[in-house]
Amino acid sequence: MSYPLRRRTDFLCTLCAQALAPGEEYWYINGAVICGACLGRYARLELAPFRHVLGEEREEG
Ligand SMILES: [Zn+2]
Repeated sequence: MSYPLRRRTDFLCTLCAQALAPGEEYWYINGAVICGACLGRYARLELAPFRHVLGEEREEG
């Protein structure tokens, strides 16, 4: 869903480069603009260090 007309006030998602629409929610995290559609993907990246898979835990040290 992209519009041919480019507005000067385009506010783009850092991940998918989609322009945010007025009224659309977004997350501004560490200088990055994240749209609702990308939040899950971004959260997975950011929280990757805390990710675990049951049965595949690695022992550290
Ligand atoms: Zn996005």
